This record gives sequence, structure tokens and C-alpha cells, in this order.
Amino acid sequence: MKTETPDASEAGEVDWSAALDRALAGERLSLEDACALEDAPLTRLGEVADELRRRRAGDTVTFIKDRNVNYTNVCDTYCSFCAFYRKPGHEEGYVLSRDELYGKIQETVDAGGVQILMQGGVHPDLDLEWFESMLRDVKDRFDVHMHAFSPEEINDLARKEDLSYREVLRRLEDAGLDSIPGGGGEILVDRVRDTISPLKVSKREWLDVMEAAHDVGLSTTATMMYGTVESWRERMQHLMELRELQDSTGGFMAFICWDFQPGDTPLADRIDDRGPAAEDYLRTLAASRLVLDNFRNMQSSWVTQGPKVGQMALAFGANDMGSTMMEENVVAEAGADYRMTEDEIVSLIEDAGRPAAMRNQRYDAVKRY
Ligand code: SF4
Repeated sequence: MKTETPDASEAGEVDWSAALDRALAGERLSLEDACALEDAPLTRLGEVADELRRRRAGDTVTFIKDRNVNYTNVCDTYCSFCAFYRKPGHEEGYVLSRDELYGKIQETVDAGGVQILMQGGVHPDLDLEWFESMLRDVKDRFDVHMHAFSPEEINDLARKEDLSYREVLRRLEDAGLDSIPGGGGEILVDRVRDTISPLKVSKREWLDVMEAAHDVGLSTTATMMYGTVESWRERMQHLMELRELQDSTGGFMAFICWDFQPGDTPLADRIDDRGPAAEDYLRTLAASRLVLDNFRNMQSSWVTQGPKVGQMALAFGANDMGSTMMEENVVAEAGADYRMTEDEIVSLIEDAGRPAAMRNQRYDAVKRY
């Protein structure tokens, strides 16, 4: 079993060099170690993250062919960093009809896609039966993996139906839900959440939904959206929360981080310039690889960072390129609109000197290049 290093209060200030040494020695990093990584030279931090990636996940870089489908953009949660939602009653609000939904899934399947990543909007009028019937209708027609509904949506259904998270999740699983994306994680520190998304699930609720999902047998991913009002320490606290839950359930399949895309959002004017975004991204990703010692898979977020930085991420701890993203509405609304085909993703991976493989949702390689 790995050992916990002492708190800074007991051991004095941790310097970044000691933290890197501990990580390389296979020791678990404390919060103080993780905080020290903010000052580590980026190249040294990257080298350690790359070595830990190699030990935990090997050299192959995977990706999946899937499509993002947003079944509605109507939402009454009003997060200040979100450019995607429309208030209930807004003329641009939509709920996809079955025919529209089937059309998008058929296109995905025709293009070789194996997974639908489906999320809202938290629509005030959609109840649990609506979600159950949608999942059943999709599964009756298509052999696709449904990776759907963030903790925010699960929490909303539990509240509307007066059911526990486990009861909601079991019913959705019975109807065809296969796994859950980790959307809405943002930063798992309530000071930050209360500032940027006061109506959204609390840290405890987000973790409780994930724990319940793992408990009923649904794997999930874990995310971090940074770059709003949080400190580096709060980013590291977020990682500690994920690591602790992963210790107890083992249900997180992957970790994905990206920075706030200001675009046309209410929060944009309230955020100070944080300096070079690429450096901040690579530092945050690499630190995540060091801290999350119980996660095998880390995705490169090329959709928000662009293909070049997405490729550099492969040298800073990432072992997965996410998906070909046939459709991405949420970050596109905020201004990030990068797209790559299967061939482009494979070239990017191979140009980085790494073998490429297409994977399924369990991160098993299903096609090598
Ligand atoms: S981030 Fe999600 S929950 Fe928040 S306003 Fe946008 S759609 Fe709604």
C-alpha cells in the first residue's frame, strides 16, 4: 500500500523537487505535495507525468468514435460559465424529437461510431419516464453504448421523483443507460461552485451521485473544468476528492480536464487573464497524472485546446485522445470548435511517436493502426 506523506504543517513547506521525487518513487502525493507542483518547471513535471503514464497505461494512445448529442438546450440551472443553455420558454430552446435523435444516431452508426454521449440541459418538464422511454426507444433500434446524463441531471430526476440516486440510476440502467459522463464536476470545492454555479449540485451531491452510479454497476468518467475563480490549491483539492472516491469504488474509467471557455458567457468579464492557456493546461494535466495515482486513463482535451496542444498533452500524462466528436455543441457555443477525423487523430498520435488504437467505452483497444 502506498503511503501518505505528512502535511506541510508537520513537515514544513514541500518543495516541488521533493514532490516529483515522491511521485517517481511511486509514493502517494499529499495535498501539500500537489500544491508544490504549481512551481515545478513545466518540462520536469511533464517528464514525470510521462513516465507515470507509461507505467500505468503503456504507450498506446486510444480514441473512440462517438457523437455528442444534446437532447435539449433548455436549462434552469443558469451556470455563469455556460453559453449553451436557453432559459425555459426561450424561443431558441429545443427538445430533440425522436426522429431527430434517431437521425443523429443513425449517422453516427453509419460512420462507424459505437457510442452516444448524451447530455442536456436540465429541463424542468422532463421526468424520469421520459428518459426511460427515450433510452428504450434508442436501444430497441440501435446497438450503441449510451454514455449519458451528468450528476446534475440525475440529481434533478431524484428531486422531481422523490427517489434516491440509486433508484433513479437503477431505473435508467434497466432502460438502457450504460455509463455516465462526469460533466458538471467543474471544481469540487463549494466556495468555487457557489460562485460560478450556485444552483448546481454541491460537491457532496456530485460525489454521491458518482458513488451511487459505481455502486449500481455504472462506470463513469471524472472531469475538471478549471480556470474560473479557483486557486491552484482548489484544483488540487478537487483531485484529492476524486482520488478518495476512486479508492473506495474504482468506478472512474478516465479523467478529463479542460479550461473554462469564456466565449459568450456571463462569467467571461469577471475572470482575470491567467496567462498562457496552453502552459496552464499542460501543467494541470501533468499534475493530475501525478496526483491521481489510481486512474489509468487520462484524456487529452484537444476539442478545447486544439490539435497541437492536444498532441503535446500526450507527453504530459495523457494516454487517450477522447473521441472524434462528430458533434459538440456545448464548448462550440463558447467558441472552441476544433474538429478532427479518424485519419487526422491517428496521424496526430503517430506523429507524436506513439501507436494508435481505436477503443471501446471500457478503454479496450478494438482496432490498431
Ligand atoms: S452547464 Fe449544464 S447545468 Fe449549467 S447551465 Fe449549462 S446546460 Fe445547464
